[in-house]
Amino acid sequence: MFKHSGNNHLNMSGLLLLIVFAFSFSIQSYCQAKEEDRLALTNVNIIDGKGGAPQNNMTVVIEAGIIRDIFPAGRKPLPKDYRVIELKGMYVLPGLIDTHVHLTGGYRSPEEADALLKFALMGGVTAVRDMGGDAIEIARLAENAKNNTTLSPRIYFSALMAGPTWFKDPRAQASAHGQTAGEIPWLKAITPETDIAQAVSQAKATGATGIKIYANLSADLTKKVTAEAHRQGLKVWSHATIFPARPGDAVNAGIDSISHAALLIYEAADKVPEEYHSSQSDIFALYSKTPANDQKIIDLLQKMKREGKILDATLYVTSLLAQRSNPNAAADPRLKWTYEVTKLARENGVTLVTGTDGMGRPGRDEVPNIHQEMELLVTMCGLTPAEAVTAATLNGAKALGVENLYGTVSKSKAADLLILRKNPLENIRHTREIYAVIKGGRFFRKPN
Ligand SMILES: [Zn+2]
Repeated sequence: MFKHSGNNHLNMSGLLLLIVFAFSFSIQSYCQAKEEDRLALTNVNIIDGKGGAPQNNMTVVIEAGIIRDIFPAGRKPLPKDYRVIELKGMYVLPGLIDTHVHLTGGYRSPEEADALLKFALMGGVTAVRDMGGDAIEIARLAENAKNNTTLSPRIYFSALMAGPTWFKDPRAQASAHGQTAGEIPWLKAITPETDIAQAVSQAKATGATGIKIYANLSADLTKKVTAEAHRQGLKVWSHATIFPARPGDAVNAGIDSISHAALLIYEAADKVPEEYHSSQSDIFALYSKTPANDQKIIDLLQKMKREGKILDATLYVTSLLAQRSNPNAAADPRLKWTYEVTKLARENGVTLVTGTDGMGRPGRDEVPNIHQEMELLVTMCGLTPAEAVTAATLNGAKALGVENLYGTVSKSKAADLLILRKNPLENIRHTREIYAVIKGGRFFRKPN
């Protein structure tokens, strides 16, 4: 308990001091619990996540983690015994949702994961979707986040399924928690002989709420896994190209969201690699010779729109790859293509979310990369700032399947909120002007 209390008295020794500390801590937590239980945010401008204009000078009443009431300031008396937080001139929006993170994988210690999650929460991210990793470790992080023993966004995570040949990837074994990748519920090799119902129920037992479909699976097996996952109440989150299946095969299989706009190009390619690790040396030629508005791509985007499939474009990580491989990143053919296809997705009405595939680094980055993801959607892909906010909030909640409780500033929804000093609809970079974050009704003032 002390380890996670965040109290400065951590290093004190001696029984007496410990007793004094324990007593003061319990008083403090009692007061905090009471105070945090009931908040009234006053004179605040609401950007509700649904895309409309701000509602100015409102009061938001929060109790036990839920938004109980919203009304124009002064229309009703403030309820008694609430902590009143005056927010004149500020903006409240739903907490941000990063729909593509990897919290584990052998390269990050538990302490580093905690530091990253705290950085994310204080940077306005109130929920994340982990798209592949060590489910035992992620479940532990998710439990801590749920119990508020650490400062962390809510964590939703996936169990990964792929063809057996994919599991030679070193990332798989690094996430196996000492077991054998391919043979465990969160890293499961699927073949025509697999008992898919059992594989899905074991995946579900890890605490995962979605199946991540990754690579080296036929269109037929993708379809069978998807149908079974849906039958058991899980979402299906797919890599855009499941070599040798094309993006369109994943959509036809009924998956709920696909990640990495850059990979949509395989819908229009003459041939698709047989498997994930095949050489793709001609990849840049492919980006140069295939227009983003190729009819096959447009058909795919229109089908995604019709069937409500979500595109997790991951612009940030694609721009990072471009910076690493091309001294002139803006001219990188893959990056240019990715921006163009995401713009077309928006024009064709596809639901976009804000996965980063790289949350950011505490100490190096001022804010988590989701802010950059939102900015790229606006500056490079034609979204309005309001659309980018919706992508990062309501649409993120839809990707997780939790839009009934999260993703908008609405009565009866969870009080997961971001409070900004400046209007993000005037300039999307204002999402970085964070005054405070609220998660489950707990108020965290961000130090200046
Ligand atoms: Zn990823």
